[in-house]
Amino acid sequence: MRFNWRRHTCKFLAPTTKRLVGSCGEPKLNIAAMSRNGGEGVVGEDFKNSEESGGVRDLYGEDSATEDQLITPWTFSVASGNTLLRDPRYNKGLAFTEKERDAHYLRGLLPPAVFTQELQEKRTMHNIRQYEVPLHKYMAMMDLQERNERLFYKILIDNVEELLPIVYTPVVGEACQKYGSIYKRPQGLYISLKEKGKILEVLKNWPEKTIQVIVVTDGERILGLGDLGCQGMGIPVGKLSLYTALGGVRPSSCLPVTIDVGTNNETLLNDEFYTGLRQKRATGKEYEELLDEFMRAVKQNYGEKVLIQFEDFANHNAFNLLDRYSSSHLVFNDDIQGTASVVLAGLLASLKLVGGTLADHTFLFLGAGEAGTGIAELIALEISKQTKAPVEETRKKVWLVDSKGLIVRSRLESLQHFKKPWAHEHEPVKALLDAVKAIKPTVLIGSSGVGKTFTKEVVEAMASLNEKPLILALSNPTSQSECTAEEAYTWSKGKAIFASGSPFDPVKYGGKVYAPGQANNAYIFPGFGLGLIISGAIRVRDEMLLAASEALAAQVSQENYDKGLIYPPFTNIRKISAHIAASVAAKVYELGLASHLPRPKDLVKYAESCMYSPGYRSYL
Ligand code: NAD
Repeated sequence: MRFNWRRHTCKFLAPTTKRLVGSCGEPKLNIAAMSRNGGEGVVGEDFKNSEESGGVRDLYGEDSATEDQLITPWTFSVASGNTLLRDPRYNKGLAFTEKERDAHYLRGLLPPAVFTQELQEKRTMHNIRQYEVPLHKYMAMMDLQERNERLFYKILIDNVEELLPIVYTPVVGEACQKYGSIYKRPQGLYISLKEKGKILEVLKNWPEKTIQVIVVTDGERILGLGDLGCQGMGIPVGKLSLYTALGGVRPSSCLPVTIDVGTNNETLLNDEFYTGLRQKRATGKEYEELLDEFMRAVKQNYGEKVLIQFEDFANHNAFNLLDRYSSSHLVFNDDIQGTASVVLAGLLASLKLVGGTLADHTFLFLGAGEAGTGIAELIALEISKQTKAPVEETRKKVWLVDSKGLIVRSRLESLQHFKKPWAHEHEPVKALLDAVKAIKPTVLIGSSGVGKTFTKEVVEAMASLNEKPLILALSNPTSQSECTAEEAYTWSKGKAIFASGSPFDPVKYGGKVYAPGQANNAYIFPGFGLGLIISGAIRVRDEMLLAASEALAAQVSQENYDKGLIYPPFTNIRKISAHIAASVAAKVYELGLASHLPRPKDLVKYAESCMYSPGYRSYL
């Protein structure tokens, strides 16, 4: 290597490794100056913020994650020169200042121009907008994440409405389907059956030691696209980028994991570019043992407070995993609980438009899986909380249709356990249209993963039964949506209040523009996770989900209602996430499940002060 490794490593590491600075005899770096230069999470800044907001002296900021480097600084080496340009965490590209170029041996390695981050953003967005194929935009964003992490997050935060459908549903679905062909560099951590017995060692291979959130999938039910095996990795990667962009959780404390137990997807098994194990899925004991080893290793390596978010597991495993680990780990299933919380928020908000209380409504679901039964249960819990009626009673307001028809008492014996609470007394009904006519719901929710199932007749029936039918077509991606926004508005003659899982453009109907809402989990899970982290929660409880729903519903403004929206726009998502985090954290403290003590006085301020912001930091 051309440069003096020790010297430059030490110099560059100065912001995070004070002991190292001293030992190398380098001039001490001015941490206060770094704070002024926009570095969030810098020690001095965080203390100040947390004290101002009456908070705990808990260092959540970026540099606190590097405490272990004080002990073994040589395990973490970020160098100058070309190595610095190749490190996405620290690279600023053309935004390195003249002085930084001198100090870090970058002269000649960059063209002479110095850009601001804003100019870099403008140029990158211009380039991304040139791509006509959405998958190409996705690939451009992934390349950027691998090249310049702070610019990636700045762009994502500043252009959230435009880029969310790219890094998340629907485009991430296509990316997972083609993951093998578009694969360039590994992202996230892969744990396959080959690693059985060695999972703790595998976790130790991950370069970051302080992890706060893990999103894990086994790829068996990716969005509504089915079993994509190991290629499901796009989902944990995408979700965690939203944890950072929307919830302000530091990128370095996020760990995407894919557990590869094989796939039953024949197309993938026969695809020469498939990146996973080429075998049928392991099930039963073999599967359970691998998952159990993973869960134990995570707790052993990262401690009690690491949040493990289960993502896109097939429902036969999802419910069991949540059941099995919710009393021993900090676990959250976004498909079951996150969806439930976001949909409940939309329902609570919609009451302003449709009138009545939640208990005055009747709910019919198409699809009784993770999303459907999760939402159904949270609705029943909220009604129970509001009316003080037992949840066994309030469940009777909610009906579900699965692939065999309306879930009714006579089917009880043959039902999967998570469907049983919804088997109400009624004669069997096969088709959705007949169920709508029989149950007369005020709210129709699609969570079947099957597109085009809210037919013209179904929507017309809802419109004939209700002044303002609430129709939620939640299935993702767009191709699987139960109906489109245009269909909902035109078939209901403009009466429907509509929201969907995947985004739809506004629709013109009868001289009016209707703006469909997106019942997107991204509203909830980043703020929910942040709330758990800032309170040091050790377990998740349903009350926290209800708190998140109420906080999100409270963020819908009159201006949003006037447009028929039941969710606030994503442009304010970081503010929304801070409010959700504060409500969730408040509930964690109330339930005695918080470990960060004492409780900060102003939780919203505290949540905001903890959030990662992607502005460049000065390396001088
Ligand atoms: P799941 O596999 O657990 O459940 C699907 C359910 O639909 C099952 O009960 C199945 O029996 C039923 N079903 C299948 N075909 C049907 C048919 N033709 N008629 C009636 N019922 C049928 O899946 P899930 O996790 O519940 O997800 C379902 C869909 O919801 C997916 O498309 C997913 O992307 C979407 N989803 C959306 C959001 C959101 O928008 N916020 C969140 C989570 C899931």
